[in-house]
Amino acid sequence: MSKTAQANTQVLLRRRPEGMPVPEDFEVVNGPMPAPRDGQVLVRHAFISLDPYMRGRMNDAASYAKPVALGAVMETRAVGQVVESRADGYAPGDWVLGGYGWQAFSAVPASALARLDPNEAPVQSALGILGMPGMTAFIGLDQIGRPKAGETVVVSAASGAVGAVVGQLAKQAGCRVVGIAGGADKCRYVTEELRFDACIDHRGDVAAGLDARAPDGIDIYWENVGGAVQAAVFPRLRDFGRMVMCGMIAEYNSTPLPGPNLMSAVRKRLRIQGFIVSDSWARYPEWRALAAPMLRDGKLRYREDVVEGLAHAPAAFIGLLQGRNFGKLLVRV
Ligand code: NDP
Repeated sequence: MSKTAQANTQVLLRRRPEGMPVPEDFEVVNGPMPAPRDGQVLVRHAFISLDPYMRGRMNDAASYAKPVALGAVMETRAVGQVVESRADGYAPGDWVLGGYGWQAFSAVPASALARLDPNEAPVQSALGILGMPGMTAFIGLDQIGRPKAGETVVVSAASGAVGAVVGQLAKQAGCRVVGIAGGADKCRYVTEELRFDACIDHRGDVAAGLDARAPDGIDIYWENVGGAVQAAVFPRLRDFGRMVMCGMIAEYNSTPLPGPNLMSAVRKRLRIQGFIVSDSWARYPEWRALAAPMLRDGKLRYREDVVEGLAHAPAAFIGLLQGRNFGKLLVRV
């Protein structure tokens, strides 16, 4: 079908959510077909990524990135195929990473695109394990966690896009790795497929689980969720422990809970450090060069949760904030 015969399905931010988003905060519309200018290409999206950070973009609050404006297309990155090129080096049919927004088509400057080779890896992995979430795991461990053989690492949201990679890389570094995930199926996946040493279901008693699975304490805690999980982990950090502050998804829809008493950070000489992956994006080729062969050789495993159609993106995104996704959440456009 030609592009002109299609509408550009778009998901707009209609309202700023209070607490957990609801479907009425979004609107699915048939928007205008974008026209590429000189130096741009028109991309037909094949997959868009849904990620926890998008919840922050829905708020009109100061952050490291600007909020999505009311009435604007929800933000994300997409992989897709060039359908029209007004830029040197790109031709119709080329696979690229760098489409923009919860929509079917976008016109993007060639400078914002990365070319993808569908024979190297499934194209959508550029939004997951070979893309931003995988890179997040790599950077946070390399710059902050710095795992050493024999250490105990605890990873929250362990079955998810970031957590799954963190645990596998820590295992490769010779650590004992304990995941925390929601439910028996996710925990089984974390131990059997991802080969973590143990997994604790956060719907049960996390503190008791940690005492059983990490009885000598925790050297590195990879923080993805915050809230009650953090409260159980923090007192169990060992001297010189590191807390890699990646995200706190359990608190994205609520007023933050009071954090732990930080005096033990002094007593135990803890290192607690946040990071934002985009600050280190110059190192992305390093991650791709490391991860692509591991993926090919089965040394790095991952799982995708693919939702069909942009109209289902709002419900899928709300599900992500409630733990209903199982693996890297994507929408097939
Ligand atoms: P995931 O694929 O892990 O999906 C989110 C998961 O979070 C859910 O499946 C669920 O898993 C868990 N979750 C949701 N709500 C709660 C809750 N209330 N309590 C406990 N767990 C909950 O997402 P990502 O891997 O993409 O992201 C993981 C974290 O990393 C997020 O906090 C995100 O913001 C952060 N991040 C930070 C980046 C940075 O640069 N600092 C970059 C990318 C991501 P379960 O069912 O197991 O609880």
